[in-house]
Amino acid sequence: MDYPKILEEIKESLALEPKTGTVASYIPELAKISPNKFGMHLCCFEQGNFAFGDSRERFSIQSVSKVFSLTLAIQLLGNKVLERVGIEPSGDPFNSLILLENENGIPRNPLINSGALVIADILVEHLERPKEDFLNFVRKISGQSDIQFNKQVAQSEKDWGYRNAALVNLMKSFGNINGDIEEVLDFYFHQCALEMSCEELANTFMLYANHGKIFGTEEEILNTSQTKRLNAVMLACGFYDEAGEFSFKVGLPGKSGVGGGIAAIHPGNFSVAVWSPQLNEKGNSALGMLALELLTTKTGLSIF
Ligand code: GLU
Repeated sequence: MDYPKILEEIKESLALEPKTGTVASYIPELAKISPNKFGMHLCCFEQGNFAFGDSRERFSIQSVSKVFSLTLAIQLLGNKVLERVGIEPSGDPFNSLILLENENGIPRNPLINSGALVIADILVEHLERPKEDFLNFVRKISGQSDIQFNKQVAQSEKDWGYRNAALVNLMKSFGNINGDIEEVLDFYFHQCALEMSCEELANTFMLYANHGKIFGTEEEILNTSQTKRLNAVMLACGFYDEAGEFSFKVGLPGKSGVGGGIAAIHPGNFSVAVWSPQLNEKGNSALGMLALELLTTKTGLSIF
């Protein structure tokens, strides 16, 4: 596969695209990012790494982190995790409260905010030093020992986190949050405030393309069956209420975040991460999604 040529063509196509979308501003710290950033990093099993643009610059990975917290929760508790959170797409915005009331405080899936808050509750309960242990876990699976939470972003999320506070309170009223609400929120806000580059995200996501083993060291983090399930959840639930559109256009399991990052995988072939902060109306990176659509179209490598 001529990946250098394909990435060059993607880069040229993106340069011609009108800049649409808006940078997330409901977390004020995120609004400070230049809308013109763009990075892409592709990590292949056979042919190595290819990248362009701001692929080495760290940004706020936001909800992409939900995949890492879910991975750690599955590693700790296995299928028990799914007693408190479902695996179906919600068809509603990521921070919606509507379904929770009707569904007795059980979130539709772990990749929307309510579900990720339940996962945060599980981690707060089972980890000795939750934030530190989680950070060390991400450092381990990424192979990057200097990955950090951005404290200003975490504080900004806390200052404006009324909806997340509402979600966690509502779930607590149904008995689906065991821990202290403030502690769960603090963990969640820090988790979302992790900063990583496209290069680091793509390298880390190789885990999910490699049947749950860290690419390179081959250390097993999840078993094959757990990885299959997690990838299925990403495909069905990883792109807000645009998961159908993402499957239709791109056809890869993955996860996006309101920081403008998207990470996706093709099992046994590659992982890829893109970053462009301008979001479409559903909350996915507009150019990021287009770049991935071009990638799977030009390579013929979607999972379908
Ligand atoms: N920290 C963000 C929030 O809770 C994450 C949203 C996202 O990236 O989907 O609103």
